[in-house]
Amino acid sequence: MNNEMRIVCFGAGVGSTSMTIELVRRKVPFDAVVFADTGCELPETLETVGVLDKWLKAKGLPGVTIVRNPKETLEEHCLRLHALPSFAYGGRRCTDHFKLRPMHKWIKSQPQAQATWRAGKRVIRYVGFDIEESERAKRSARAVLKMYDEQYPLIRWGVMRWEAQEICKTQGWDVNKSSCWCCPAMKKREVFELSQKHPGLLLARALTIERNANLRTIKGLGRSWNWSDFLLKGKN
Ligand code: SF4
Repeated sequence: MNNEMRIVCFGAGVGSTSMTIELVRRKVPFDAVVFADTGCELPETLETVGVLDKWLKAKGLPGVTIVRNPKETLEEHCLRLHALPSFAYGGRRCTDHFKLRPMHKWIKSQPQAQATWRAGKRVIRYVGFDIEESERAKRSARAVLKMYDEQYPLIRWGVMRWEAQEICKTQGWDVNKSSCWCCPAMKKREVFELSQKHPGLLLARALTIERNANLRTIKGLGRSWNWSDFLLKGKN
């Protein structure tokens, strides 16, 4: 067994999808491709996970491993606590609890990762920041646990955002921005698009989270604005 584990941190957006395509094309080895599902992923995001999984397996490579918070989904968490995803309050706990921790827990359980650490090495995590996200990559590198060596292949290869999109198109994939359907980082245009694309199911559930939340310091899922007011009453 190779005692140095390499993980592709797959978010199903343009960055990590193009990075995975390029890792394969450049014959850079990896042992697992891991996607953390918050339980509130956009259908388009889950579709990309399925497409990449099939593509990898067809090449005899490891498919996508999906990990989750074992206790609850982000939606259940918000409803139980009468709260919004923490990003609405300026925090990152939703990413931490529903993305980073499930991924970390899964990696820690892998014999190959344990062998890597026993050998005094760090598990390599490939993260799909492109060259226009260099500042984000620097912040991420500062915060990463010591047991990981976080690497940014797209930055090393000098890949810009438009090039990352082109790389996805080489496979005929029109990859969208990945996100939760209740993400407070969404812009009004995106929320409007969501209401058109997924009116019954997702928007109704997002508005239920918003209505159920105790809002004191912020107005709603948009932080300084409320999704319900914006969509149902046309208020800005
Ligand atoms: S996409 Fe938004 S809501 Fe989902 S985990 Fe990330 S910051 Fe939180």
